Amino acid sequence: MSLVLERVTKEYAGGVRALDGVDLRIADGELVGVIGPSGSGKSTLLHVMGTLDRPSSGRVAIAGADVDALDDRALAGLRARRIGFVFQRFFLMDGLTAVENVAQGMLYGAVPAARRADAARAALRRVGLGHRLDHRPDQLSGGERQRVAIARAVVARPAIVFADEPTGNLDSRAGAGILDLLGELHRDGTTLVVITHDAGIAAQLPRRVRLRDGRIEEDA
Ligand code: ADP
Repeated sequence: MSLVLERVTKEYAGGVRALDGVDLRIADGELVGVIGPSGSGKSTLLHVMGTLDRPSSGRVAIAGADVDALDDRALAGLRARRIGFVFQRFFLMDGLTAVENVAQGMLYGAVPAARRADAARAALRRVGLGHRLDHRPDQLSGGERQRVAIARAVVARPAIVFADEPTGNLDSRAGAGILDLLGELHRDGTTLVVITHDAGIAAQLPRRVRLRDGRIEEDA
């Protein structure tokens, strides 16, 4: 799913300009890293690209559709059907099993519970957790929890996945496994945008967008 940002700004209360005239085009099936120092606007960019937040000015278009023209309800539908998110802090529900957590990623729309559970099991197998289906988060390692979160992000088969520091809470070995997994999703055709401040990870990504003070400093 393609993504276009034109002259996008985002100002927060207090006059902080977190994005300051961002032009960016991401084509269908790309794998893009967003890098830059803390406070440079990476998370804000991800929120605006993922329609979690609206820009203060400028244009955001997803798969050719202007986000500005969609009301909140339509945006929520677009997000639920087409977009997946992975965060540094996994945001799993403590009391639920891995299958139940992943099935949460399909709550939007009228999919029967049995089919949601089937899809959740398939997604967990895809991320290498076929042997952890009924474990709860506190029975899983950090890397396994992030795999569950990734399964939840992809269970509804989104066209684009945004990952915000997905390896930030993991040791280097678990982090490498998560990176491999994201690479597999990319090879399967998912458009993927990964925020990272890890230079080693960034170096492995085919395209890197570097932010500084809310502007794109480099796009290589
Ligand atoms: P990064 O992800 O690169 O660390 P952020 O996008 O989180 O950068 O932040 C960019 C700037 O916007 C920073 O100066 C930050 O303090 C500010 N900022 C981020 N979120 C908010 C918010 N909700 N309210 C006010 N300022 C914010």
